[in-house]
Amino acid sequence: MSYAIEFTGPTTLPVAESNVAFPVGRIYCVGRNYAEHAREMGHDPDREPPFFFMKPADAIVMSGATIPYPQVTKDLHHEIEMIVAIGKGGSDIPVDKALDHVFGYGVGLDMTRRDLQGEAKKMGRPWEMGKAFDNSAPCTPLKTVAMVGHPAKGAVWLKVNGKVTQKGDLAEMIWNVPETISYLSKLITLRAGDIIMSGTPAGVGPVQAGDTLEGHVDGVGDLTISYAK
Ligand code: MN
Repeated sequence: MSYAIEFTGPTTLPVAESNVAFPVGRIYCVGRNYAEHAREMGHDPDREPPFFFMKPADAIVMSGATIPYPQVTKDLHHEIEMIVAIGKGGSDIPVDKALDHVFGYGVGLDMTRRDLQGEAKKMGRPWEMGKAFDNSAPCTPLKTVAMVGHPAKGAVWLKVNGKVTQKGDLAEMIWNVPETISYLSKLITLRAGDIIMSGTPAGVGPVQAGDTLEGHVDGVGDLTISYAK
């Protein structure tokens, strides 16, 4: 069977130190998963159930790229996050089995048009146009579980033009990775290829045209992205 229109194939992420690629299915993002970030966004970080929003797979752009400042926003924000790549699908996954479903980890940015998100919140509308837009998910290549294990603690930071803006530790997640996988798999059937962006520590802030972002997750990797002038 041929395709009626040009078919570009799946978005993929390279797997580090290999010549294979990871085909990306869906991207699920966890909201307010670090207490200090929940507070800075004006919310009580009590352990309310996690909530999720999505980005399209083709929002991914590889670390190292220079990308245009996105359309319509005047308040683009950075959110540095560890990303979790699902290698084996499932639903109703118990917490103590959740890590068996992980293929590997990477570093990502949940870029956010904060002004559009804020307006959507105020009007009780969906967040998509604040979160799911072109190049809104810069990511590094993935490292496999064999390479990095299951990182549960370690520094997470982001620098804008060399200055640290976000700083936290994976251990500060309100819902850790196994709990997040288990919870999400009760809402939808996870599939191999899905990516979870695990939430961002405090210090989110604006990005201007011409800025360079450098992100880091201990044991997982380093990400760089530049915005065109
Ligand atoms: Mn986020």
